[in-house]
Amino acid sequence: GLDARTKAEIVNLIRDMTSGRSMLMITHDLAAACEICDRIAVMYAGEILEEAAAETILNDPQHPYTQGFIRSLPSRGLHPISGSSPSLIDPPSGCRFHPRCPYAMEVCKSEHPQMVRLENGHLSRCFLCG
Ligand code: SF4
Repeated sequence: GLDARTKAEIVNLIRDMTSGRSMLMITHDLAAACEICDRIAVMYAGEILEEAAAETILNDPQHPYTQGFIRSLPSRGLHPISGSSPSLIDPPSGCRFHPRCPYAMEVCKSEHPQMVRLENGHLSRCFLCG
């Protein structure tokens, strides 16, 4: 919710403060994460669905949730993912994203996908990957 100038100042401040150090940043602001972070882990319903270098997440996402999340950004067309986030008290069976995934298959409803290792340290938790 910050104006562009204040946001740029804060991004620069964080960069200066963390130079030569490790930092874990938790945010919904993917653009800011890409400016500040080397690697990004995308979470949904309490688990990591995709992890890769920041530029890979932004330009070559493999998981359907990450792809949808990026399409929902104003700079990428503002196309929201249909449906809403599930309850963490009673999360969906199988793949937690299956009720909202445009590629969901029968197996997605009952089996929990494991993280698949792709190229260059890219990880994705989806039956379509790998
Ligand atoms: S495992 Fe199935 S439901 Fe989950 S993201 Fe992949 S295709 Fe979609």
